[in-house]
Amino acid sequence: MIHAHLLEQSTAFGGNALLLTGPARVGKAGLAWAIAAAQNCTGLRGMYGEACGQCPSCRALAAGAHPDLLLVEPRATTTTGKAARRKLIPVGAVLQGRDKAREYETHVYEFLEVRPTFRRRVVMVSGTEYLGPEAANALLKLIEEPPHHALFLFMAEDVRAVLPTIVSRSARLSVTPVSDQELARALMQSGQNADEELVAFAAGRAGVLADAEKVRAALADARLLQEALATGLLTTLETAEALEKRWDATWHPEALRFVWRTSVPHQRAQADTALDDLQQALEAYASPSLSFQVFGLRLREAFGEA
Ligand SMILES: [Zn+2]
Repeated sequence: MIHAHLLEQSTAFGGNALLLTGPARVGKAGLAWAIAAAQNCTGLRGMYGEACGQCPSCRALAAGAHPDLLLVEPRATTTTGKAARRKLIPVGAVLQGRDKAREYETHVYEFLEVRPTFRRRVVMVSGTEYLGPEAANALLKLIEEPPHHALFLFMAEDVRAVLPTIVSRSARLSVTPVSDQELARALMQSGQNADEELVAFAAGRAGVLADAEKVRAALADARLLQEALATGLLTTLETAEALEKRWDATWHPEALRFVWRTSVPHQRAQADTALDDLQQALEAYASPSLSFQVFGLRLREAFGEA
């Protein structure tokens, strides 16, 4: 598996909290799930301590119904009107009584009051940077003296943005990109085609593999749009509109930039600006259909097809 040496370190770790840091899509979530699985596995574990994949705990995890794992993620909170949305993990994620808007189904405090079904309850916090001070305060005692020996797995892209009270109570694991060969091997092991384009797009980020199908689709759409630009105005508009229906805010922007990477710098710069404007328009809830048509027209201009 990818990042096997980090899993090995986590297995040897006897504390209550780990902080996994590294860039977006580098594989923090994959590693967190592997650690949570290993901590609960009751079968015969692999040479790096990886979960067996067959015991009752591993089967529950594969079925997406593991009773001892809780994933906490930030919610996008909209302040008044069309003001920018901001991500936050509020105190309501930790304490049921403070979750007035019922944003979270399960709350950390109440979750940890219950004994583990298998070996150890694990709380995974994705986007630890967005942990509000109140939520962090409510967590501190739980981290220091976790009920039933629970484990916290914090994930963050930038450790400098994480509250010092969390950083100082956690052991850090730095998750780094891996080589293209390692990624290709992981793709093949999961029974997929290790196509060069996907590996180049991933640029060492293991987290991309979990979304391989979506990435392939986004790359195909990006190429289609690029071809449409050269075909003609009408085809451009039609293809841009079709893109709206398939738009995945995570992968399409990156796929478009990936397809443009071989263009000359000034074309790329213009196309990037058009893409930035499109994303802003979508964030502001502007008419999506019109925004995509404008985007298509501006791309034709950028690549000299207008
Ligand atoms: Zn197992």
